[in-house]
Amino acid sequence: MIHTAEPRDIGEIEPLDFLVVAPHPDDAELGMGGTIARMIQQGWRVGILDLTTGEPTPHGSEEIRRAETLAATEILGVTWRGNAGLPNRELQHTLQSRALVASYFRMLRPRWIFAPYWHDAHPDHIVATDLIEAARFWSKLSKTDMPGERFHPERLFYYYCVHLRLAVQPNWIVDISQQWEKKRASVAAYESQFITGRPTEPVTFLDRVEADAAYWGRLIDRQYGEPFACKEPLALTSLRDVF
Ligand SMILES: [Zn+2]
Repeated sequence: MIHTAEPRDIGEIEPLDFLVVAPHPDDAELGMGGTIARMIQQGWRVGILDLTTGEPTPHGSEEIRRAETLAATEILGVTWRGNAGLPNRELQHTLQSRALVASYFRMLRPRWIFAPYWHDAHPDHIVATDLIEAARFWSKLSKTDMPGERFHPERLFYYYCVHLRLAVQPNWIVDISQQWEKKRASVAAYESQFITGRPTEPVTFLDRVEADAAYWGRLIDRQYGEPFACKEPLALTSLRDVF
């Protein structure tokens, strides 16, 4: 199910381990679908909050995109998914949109948040990053009419779903070799975005997604990987799982 009502109507919910915030439905899957699947398989509670419907697009409609989003959500096994209903193409960082996103954080209480990487060509993505950073801060305010209790997500990390051909230097890479098929299927679920009207002969859009994952995997000596950035240093309790 995709929650489309006000954050205050979410009700009692066990806090999430992390929440991926995406400008459009499909950004979370493209940027970190493998990591989402991996952490869910390890028992974590993972949510996705899409800020807009992502529509209109050349081959999509709100109805088609909603069905595709639901299919992708089920493939990954996402714990909670919602849509904030902010305007696609015209996403703005206003006090109202900041309070809205902060309200989701207060109701869902994710320990960590994932936002889009800060350099991008798509204005919605650039605004989303800025909006999420500010909403994370506002989430901890007291004496406000935002729903829920004051809450501060411990960490803010960044995934790459970028409309620029950037040669980026990530801070860490997650091994998604075992989750690649799920990631691929979750991206392919957005047929109106990545298949309809696109080349059907190599190199297809999905071939490029796979080549990217293989590149990041090669850098960590694994088959497939997903890169991430952070502005603050990572804290480790052990070096055991670093390879
Ligand atoms: Zn997007």
